Amino acid sequence: MNIKRLLGIDTRADRYAYTVDPVAGFVSSQRAAERWVATTCGYCSVGCGMFVGVRDGKAVSVRGNPDHPVNRGMLCPKGLSEHYTLSADNRARYPLLKRDGRQERVSWTDALETMAATFRRIQAEHGPGAVGIISTGQLVTEEFYTLGKLAQIGLGTPNYDGNTTLCMATAVSGYKRSFGSDGPPGAYEDFERADVILLIGANIADNHPILCRRLEANPDTTLIVVDPRVTKTAMIADLHLPIRPRSDLALVNGLIHILIAHDRIDRGYIERHTSGFEALRDSVREYTPERVSEITGLPVDTLYRTASIYAGARAALIAWTMGVNHSSKGTETVNAINNLALITGNIGRPGAAPFSITGQCNAMGTREAGAASCLPGYRKFESASDRAELAALWNVDVERIPTARGLAYPDIIEAALDRRIRALWIIATNPIVSFPNFGVLNQALGDLDFLVVQDGFHPTPTSSLAHLVLPAAIWGEKEGTYTNSERRVSKVNRAVDPPGEARADFDIFLDVAAALGVRDQLFPGWSVPGDAFEEWKAVSAGRLCDYSGMTYEAIEEHGGIQWPYPQTATNPTNARLYSNGLFPTDDGKARLLPVAWEPFPEQPTDPFPLVLNTGRTVEHWHTRTKTGKVPILERLSPHAWVEMNPRDAKAFRLAAQDRVDVVSRRGRIRDVELRLTETVAPGQIFVPFHYAEANANLMTQSAFDPISREPNYKQSAVRVERTAR
Ligand code: SF4
Repeated sequence: MNIKRLLGIDTRADRYAYTVDPVAGFVSSQRAAERWVATTCGYCSVGCGMFVGVRDGKAVSVRGNPDHPVNRGMLCPKGLSEHYTLSADNRARYPLLKRDGRQERVSWTDALETMAATFRRIQAEHGPGAVGIISTGQLVTEEFYTLGKLAQIGLGTPNYDGNTTLCMATAVSGYKRSFGSDGPPGAYEDFERADVILLIGANIADNHPILCRRLEANPDTTLIVVDPRVTKTAMIADLHLPIRPRSDLALVNGLIHILIAHDRIDRGYIERHTSGFEALRDSVREYTPERVSEITGLPVDTLYRTASIYAGARAALIAWTMGVNHSSKGTETVNAINNLALITGNIGRPGAAPFSITGQCNAMGTREAGAASCLPGYRKFESASDRAELAALWNVDVERIPTARGLAYPDIIEAALDRRIRALWIIATNPIVSFPNFGVLNQALGDLDFLVVQDGFHPTPTSSLAHLVLPAAIWGEKEGTYTNSERRVSKVNRAVDPPGEARADFDIFLDVAAALGVRDQLFPGWSVPGDAFEEWKAVSAGRLCDYSGMTYEAIEEHGGIQWPYPQTATNPTNARLYSNGLFPTDDGKARLLPVAWEPFPEQPTDPFPLVLNTGRTVEHWHTRTKTGKVPILERLSPHAWVEMNPRDAKAFRLAAQDRVDVVSRRGRIRDVELRLTETVAPGQIFVPFHYAEANANLMTQSAFDPISREPNYKQSAVRVERTAR
């Protein structure tokens, strides 16, 4: 400490001085902006509108946009501190190429020529599919559209998927099976208009905080929260159903059983707009309240009470997130949810919908435009007419459009393990921390001939392994659009320049296309994201996710526009889907699908007697490559912990704040703080999945939904033991 500080003369005025901002009022002078740039939050799928304050070419603050229909000026802690991510010291600044085991700085020209030549050589030697691509939900839609075309037509590899398969693939598959297409039917407005809201496996108070505020605007609703933990969301519920892990499908089937048995269903809606009712009715006969009580651990009268509340609703919303999706029965659980909504006519009306709450800021964009799990515009690989239509729009031979989806993310990793995939291009994701069963993933990446990691941050646990690192611009440094959970397309704008030689992913994709010799054919005359947006609008025209009536200007003016836009005879409103009861299936009817509960794959037994549940916390984002460098968030939640019920702690002779290891058949995390809490039921523990140094995926298993390929992240059998000193 200097002498002036000791004497109290130095008051650090530069650090603590205040000033008056014409818009924000009294603010720290460090946060006073010269100009404000309107944009959309780059973390979660709520899609809050915000302004980035810029001074001297640096982002100095963020404030919520009071006129934005999603958040009405509010932001959560991550959004409020998002500008810190732009100047973090772990930003990737220069292309790096591994030589003699060391990553060395190279020019963009060398980087891209090396990448193109290596990809082409590997494809020539091992086939086009020997190059795989794993992308993200973090890019703008214009970039997803460009990358999809580049992957499928330019590189000619079908083995392209996104990390969205780790979070939302289950909802996608569930929607496709029930309704004939992906696309969340509901809207945020439904949280304010429903008189019953059933949240299943959705801790929105931590994970979608501003969406949670919508509940406050509807004080008359009855909120039912289904979750094994007493989460912050469960604490505000009128009725919390603390089910046993992964018994949600049995619960929903049981509710359907009660509603059918007591004729509390909408027979008119079922008759006019669904098929398969008889098979569904037969399939739920065995889900008697007594059996469902045994499976879920809920009393029989609670099941009747829940069914009665739901059936008595004028408009009921069912929303879910990872508690449903992260399951090897996830897709079928989504189908059960859709069944419940359909047989009660709770879809397509204000306040009435089954509604998946997405994770990443633009997971929706890659689903719509990305050409990974479907062709752009929700076109089907297996549909000859969809392929012909797309080929005509792209002006390419129809033979170049793949007839089947390539490998999904977990299958790309499997293919890398057995050397069918030799090169991998990973974009804006950190699988070393986020993919289940670390040991398998680590071996797969280690076996690759060539690993390219394109990211805004370096080093990350994944980029540290790369043969080639491509530095990318992030939120705040580039332009385009994000689509949020309610299908609202919002504008993303550039506030500051990216650091060093980092470039927008859009520019990198065009440069890779040029290095591969396909830029002029695939992207003629393109130079800005608006070029991709215009082509995507034409490709989406007439589809469920129709953007064709949108312009950047109109999107900005309205605080985002929900698709389909414009509305059509088959989609008469863009607020919610299926308001006319017409579904994009062959007969125009939604499908009621019989689905069966089964126990989760790895049951707890000695020496692994506990069930591990993983999840998120409000302060952090995914693997902390962003939030780990935001001082206020890091100070609030600097390290991982384990939550355990006090009765279990007593049985295992553990105490609060002990340092413990958590061990599964596959690995262990070491030296983590033990927290005792009644919010976790006996027999279970909870670990946040954000922390690389206590990577929950050292313990998770290689079990996947057979339909969506989404991992069963939850319900691993573990034990907890005091850390050896
Ligand atoms: S709720 Fe989501 S979109 Fe809104 S500010 Fe927070 S992280 Fe950003």
